[in-house]
Amino acid sequence: MKDQHTLSVDDPEDLYLYSLRKMAEENLDKNRVSLTGLLNLRAFLYKADELIRYTDKNYAVIVMDIAGFKLINEFCSRSTGDELLKFISGCFHAYECETVIASHFRADIFALCMAYGSTEDILSVIEDLSEKIKSFPVSCKVLPAFGICLVEDKTQTASYSIDCAFLAQKRIKGSYFTNYAFFDKAMHDRLLLEKKIENTFDEALATNQFKLFIQPKVDMQTGKIIGGEALVRWIHPTKGMISPANFIPVLEKNSSIIALDKHVWKKVFQFISDLKLKDGLEIPISVNISRVHAYDDTLVESLINLSSGYMVSTELVPLELTESAYSENVNLMYQKIKTLKEYGFLFSMDDFGSGYSSMNMLVNQPVDEVKIDKAFLDHLENPKSQKMFQHTIAMLHDLGLRIIIEGVETPVQREFLLHTGCKYAQGFLFYKPVPAEDFRNMLLNQR
Ligand code: C2E
Ligand code: CA
Ligand code: CA
Repeated sequence: MKDQHTLSVDDPEDLYLYSLRKMAEENLDKNRVSLTGLLNLRAFLYKADELIRYTDKNYAVIVMDIAGFKLINEFCSRSTGDELLKFISGCFHAYECETVIASHFRADIFALCMAYGSTEDILSVIEDLSEKIKSFPVSCKVLPAFGICLVEDKTQTASYSIDCAFLAQKRIKGSYFTNYAFFDKAMHDRLLLEKKIENTFDEALATNQFKLFIQPKVDMQTGKIIGGEALVRWIHPTKGMISPANFIPVLEKNSSIIALDKHVWKKVFQFISDLKLKDGLEIPISVNISRVHAYDDTLVESLINLSSGYMVSTELVPLELTESAYSENVNLMYQKIKTLKEYGFLFSMDDFGSGYSSMNMLVNQPVDEVKIDKAFLDHLENPKSQKMFQHTIAMLHDLGLRIIIEGVETPVQREFLLHTGCKYAQGFLFYKPVPAEDFRNMLLNQR
């Protein structure tokens, strides 16, 4: 590897590189942020890549922003916000030297690329910056949060290191007691997994690797199956079964979930239609609607077309939406729910009690059924939790809503639930999710 200080002017290739660098460095002065005078992102990327690649030291990329900076702008005035940014840039600027680059990316986001000997060096810089920034005289609290990425090898780009540092920083967002986080192996693995999922999804969908599983819903008194919930499983040719908890959040990020959900719904309508034609059975199977569908203009049309195409009545496919689907983009989703209800679809509020503002939603949204989240059952040994649970159930019944208890795992829970007036449940005590064909056999057996 070439060191930037050992370029030889006698070597034409070196001379060429040398003049290119000189030109770039002279240009860097034009790449400074006018408010703070620090290098902007573009210049930072260039200089950090140069440092990392051509000097024989270990480097860390650190990003920082201020929790609630917007509030400072709003409550203490914009000029106070600007003064704070200038003050911070002074703190960062003080560290600039041969082996440290400071930058102001945008708004309240600052960065350092610094050589280090041990992680203690990095932590002492963070502590020093933190103390100074917190001392800025302003009535709102100024809380800096740092994300750190240790550059693993000379080929790792500054741009990738910045992404990793932001990812680490995201983990401590909203935490009052921690003000820094390192990008670690688990985050790295998750990032890789996300990339793999994104890259293989289309092929997996085209080659039918996503299978329909169904978890029975039961009448707790009699044990009879009264319906089911469609849950997707990714059966990977080499990795085996992948749980939806691992891939659904990734697909929601890039909206591929829309295609996957439609694939699942189609299988469900087909399954219900077959059940009726071949076995003379009719049973509702609910499907999950990701909150991303709020932006899907073909949602209503897709479901209606499936219902008419397979000649399956809309009431046989209740639509499960999580609380967050109701609360985010309220208006976008509300219009779609209203139209689907006019066509006879029933709505089930999923994971009730796991989020917030559920009560308001019960009043404002056209909900037919509520699925009580498993978390509600976790503390039932506590008498206060029991009281809360009993009153919640009474209220939901009073509102005329059907209730399903999710995640019932023990006979003790079943007894308590029956005693509280709950009738229907879905949980491992009764059945786990099974392949659609097994679900059909269960139905045939209970006939
Ligand atoms: P969910 O909609 O709340 O589904 C219920 C989850 O609880 C299922 O996990 C089910 O296996 C699990 N479960 C049921 N009973 C018990 C129990 O007694 N104990 C425990 N520990 N767990 C129980 P699963 O299948 O892993 O699905 C996880 C989540 O992934 C689902 O939560 C749902 O939000 C999402 N999901 C699954 N399939 C689809 C799909 O086709 N489309 C969309 N958009 N989301 C899906
Ligand atoms: Ca569900
Ligand atoms: Ca649920």
